[in-house]
Amino acid sequence: MEYDVVIVGAGPSGLSCAIKLKQLAAEQDKEISVCVVEKGSEVGAHTLSGAVIETRSLDELIPDWKNLGAPLNTEVTEDRLLFLTSQKSYRLPTPPHMNNHGNYIVSLGNVVRWLGEQAEQLGVEIYPGFAATEVLYQEDGTVRGIATGDMGIGKEGEQTDSYQQGIELHAKQTVFAEGCRGSLTKRVIERFDLRKGAQPQTYGIGIKELWEVSPEKHQQGLVIHSTGWPLDSSTYGGSFLYHLENNQVAVGFVIGLDYKNPHLSPFEEFQRFKTHPDIRGTFEEGRRIAYGARAISEGGLQSIPRVIFPGGALVGDTAGFLNVPKIKGTHTAMKSGMLAAESIFDALTVHTERRTLDYLGRLEKSWLWSELSEVRNIRPSFRWGFWGGLLYSAFDTYVLRGKAPWTLKHHEDHKQLVPANKAKKITYPKPDGVLTFDRLSSVFISNTNHEENQKCHLELKDESVPISVNLSTYDAPEQRYCPAGVYEIVEESSGARLQINAQNCVHCKTCDIKDPTQNINWVPPEGGGGPNYPNM
Ligand SMILES: Cc1cc2nc3c(=O)[nH]c(=O)nc-3n(C[C@H](O)[C@H](O)[C@H](O)COP(=O)(O)OP(=O)(O)OC[C@H]3O[C@@H](n4cnc5c(N)ncnc54)[C@H](O)[C@@H]3O)c2cc1C
Ligand code: SF4
Repeated sequence: MEYDVVIVGAGPSGLSCAIKLKQLAAEQDKEISVCVVEKGSEVGAHTLSGAVIETRSLDELIPDWKNLGAPLNTEVTEDRLLFLTSQKSYRLPTPPHMNNHGNYIVSLGNVVRWLGEQAEQLGVEIYPGFAATEVLYQEDGTVRGIATGDMGIGKEGEQTDSYQQGIELHAKQTVFAEGCRGSLTKRVIERFDLRKGAQPQTYGIGIKELWEVSPEKHQQGLVIHSTGWPLDSSTYGGSFLYHLENNQVAVGFVIGLDYKNPHLSPFEEFQRFKTHPDIRGTFEEGRRIAYGARAISEGGLQSIPRVIFPGGALVGDTAGFLNVPKIKGTHTAMKSGMLAAESIFDALTVHTERRTLDYLGRLEKSWLWSELSEVRNIRPSFRWGFWGGLLYSAFDTYVLRGKAPWTLKHHEDHKQLVPANKAKKITYPKPDGVLTFDRLSSVFISNTNHEENQKCHLELKDESVPISVNLSTYDAPEQRYCPAGVYEIVEESSGARLQINAQNCVHCKTCDIKDPTQNINWVPPEGGGGPNYPNM
């Protein structure tokens, strides 16, 4: 199928790009065909976020969003930042980046569903349930589109009764909007060496639950963030608690994937966090209604790769447009999608002789670039530990005002683990089934589903490494960092082996990032598989 523009991923960045393209075409009376493919069973099914969002990009893209029924119903009324010790909490002053005055607490999944409707009304063709699995190239190496994966290929590579061949979608411009650690983006970055000159991308893992709490514990519009306990001072991370409408509270924990101790389990740190004396009260007598996890790009401006290549562009989290100190990537993802759209529209209709997009130039002149530039040194300063990072960040923010003449560097997350025998063992309390839970009952409420008879989408480059390296040196950390219990070491008479329960995978991409030898390659499973998040 031929289109002017094909976009991979119906998240905030991909849909904003599609909407902007159609708006420009309508304004200037031009025809532009735009197609979006989405691996989730429906738009929003794979969206997991906090989320408190800034409306700056939405105001620019759809100024009339309120009247058009956008699901932004809860304005933030109060911000609290806490430092936790195991028994106590201390209120810290809210730094300017974390001031949420004028922002909204939302289910990003629902915002994305609404954006999908707006896009369709403008004539964008959206195909949910289709994973893009291959990048297509022209003879001269220019990207000419993508192919969606075949459906109905069994475990042994055989065609099953439900076999359906994948489709080739050809385009003049292909936009990758796959979100954090995009699987096709990874290949495009490698093919065109897009990371040359950029710092390594660093990541965090965010684990989230949605709770319905008793009305007297609920304060609509309240936003709480915490640092400190249960993490030690060398591990970057913290929690969020957002009081939405209908007595719902979104609670989550984000941990930097540069953590060093292979015994650490982000899932269990999150469970433990909920038992803090000043936190647990919110959830007692409440009911957990949803669960999920997703990686988050933390490298900031210095980790953004080259965002254009012959035949297309990278937008949103897959490129790394996220403001880490704000813990916000939605407005930045949307803005990057809109700027890519302007540049693509220009290339398709005005400057048709140009071989490359002027997207980078537009980015550099935008508020998005200045916003990311101002905060670029904050996340990397936490390599000096919590207190060192806090001191540096205060100096950078209040004294230098984000204009430091230097840029701090990053490291690769997968190289940070120390051998298990050199790290402190961590014993986590057993789940009580009331406030704290195990992985399997959690995955159950993520509504994750995969066709069982298909090739494993977690590819091992070398089958022996999980035992010969991961187990022997790092005590098999994939058992702990995977928030869905996909990886299990099974002891058998012939020795230990790694069992991969791929059907539980919630597509967070942590294994692709944190595996110490980069032996795990996450590829999209059959389209429509994965979580079905209701309103995350
Ligand atoms: C725990 C957590 C809390 C967060 N809190 C906030 C917050 O409070 N405020 C805020 O502004 N931001 C927050 N963020 C960040 C925000 O969610 C992201 O910045 C934003 O979602 C990025 O949008 P995107 O379109 O780039 O990617 P995504 O939202 O990840 O969308 C990418 C889409 O592409 C699809 N896709 C990927 N690969 C393929 C493929 N090969 N084929 C087809 N489809 C594909 C995915 O299924 C997905 O729907 C948070 C993130 C996390 C993980
Ligand atoms: S298998 Fe990998 S991508 Fe899937 S849930 Fe586990 S860590 Fe995340």
